[in-house]
Amino acid sequence: MSRVARAVIDHAALRHNLAVAREAVAPARVIAVLKANGYGHGLLGVADALREAEAFAVSCLEEALPLREAGFQQRLVLLEGPFTAAELPVFARRQLDAVVHTDWQVAAFEGARLPAPVDVWLKVDTGMGRLGFPPERAAGMAARLAAAPAVGTLRFMTHLACADDREDDTTHRQLELFDEALRGLEGERSIANSAGTLGWHGSHAQWVRPGIMLYGCQPFVDGLPAPALRPTMRLEARLIAVNHHRRGDRIGYGGTFVCPEDMPVGVASIGYGDGYPRHAPNGTPVQIRGRRAGVAGRVSMDMTCIDLRAVPEAEVGDTVVLWGEDPGVEEVAELCGTIGYELYCQVTPRVQRWHQRGG
Ligand SMILES: *Cc1c(COP(=O)(O)O)cnc(C)c1O
Repeated sequence: MSRVARAVIDHAALRHNLAVAREAVAPARVIAVLKANGYGHGLLGVADALREAEAFAVSCLEEALPLREAGFQQRLVLLEGPFTAAELPVFARRQLDAVVHTDWQVAAFEGARLPAPVDVWLKVDTGMGRLGFPPERAAGMAARLAAAPAVGTLRFMTHLACADDREDDTTHRQLELFDEALRGLEGERSIANSAGTLGWHGSHAQWVRPGIMLYGCQPFVDGLPAPALRPTMRLEARLIAVNHHRRGDRIGYGGTFVCPEDMPVGVASIGYGDGYPRHAPNGTPVQIRGRRAGVAGRVSMDMTCIDLRAVPEAEVGDTVVLWGEDPGVEEVAELCGTIGYELYCQVTPRVQRWHQRGG
């Protein structure tokens, strides 16, 4: 028996979640966000599952070029644009869209002689406070880019900071600012992340940019009703030992779990070296034989101990589900003081991604 720590990726679920996005925004088009290795799911596998999306977004050339090499011909948007002027010819040759958010990038396009023009998304900072020109500079930058021969079609983008809370009016203010900043300018626009896609009709414009919802996580913090999304990753390990401990025995580093009675404790073949969070507290749910058991003691690098009192018949070789249908990644994330996005991204390369294409 070899060590099993694997992430089963459900392509039917990815396709379902894309269909939910499409339905929410039609006739707007979808830029499926695949940065960070497809939110940890595996870049090329996710791209394959989501090939119906009109466009993909990634963060850099290292993520874009494998998609082109694999034959994906969609519009491919690099969300931070070029990191150096030397990258521009690659954008031109591989027909990659550049987000342009800062002065040197504008100057680089003005000074570039490229084998083909590059389509540009001018990024406006309407309140995220991260990338983009302030609204009052947008029109000036648009004029400069439009006049540059290295620039093909010019489009516009902004990013929402608080759309996950449907009662926060930051989003209304951001939409108004974007509109005002671009008044009179021709060109397609993109505003919405997942929360905008599902929660803010006024943010749909011509292109939406959902990420986390495609991977099955609700983008909202507010607990209001939202369309059903399907989980896309099941993180699995195996029980490699089942031990019988006595009341008072301590489990794992630091002895932070003390057996309250005589009880079985399993050892699962997964730990923080695989990306299962070390901060998972005692009792964090896992699933074995269709029932919930809980983490017992500190997660170690390669192994995690499991309180098997709820599944006393569990045996060596049983599958342990760390997240998936139940428990959901969001529930585990919350117990660990983080979000599903981070747990997904932390799954390390030694965890095999097992792409389930059928279904
Ligand atoms: C990551 C990202 C998205 C997707 O955000 P989600 O919350 O995952 O939907 C959209 N736009 C930009 C600019 C991003 O960086």
